[in-house]
Amino acid sequence: MVCQMEDVTIKRKCFICDKEVQDGIDVLGKFICEECQKRLINLSPFDKNYDFYRQKMIDIWEDYMKDVGYENWV
Ligand SMILES: [Zn+2]
Repeated sequence: MVCQMEDVTIKRKCFICDKEVQDGIDVLGKFICEECQKRLINLSPFDKNYDFYRQKMIDIWEDYMKDVGYENWV
């Protein structure tokens, strides 16, 4: 088994912008980078990217709900 450990910094792919970064958070099992977090916080409906970010959040939520299973909520 080959084990590659030369890179100590763990980069993860942002679910929203697809960038590989170190800093970020998990939102409902999806990784979101710091930059996107800030954008989401400051997002207004007048923002040209509003629909894009909104759809991504819906995707995250729907994916999460799919995993959890609706029937378990009843
Ligand atoms: Zn991002």
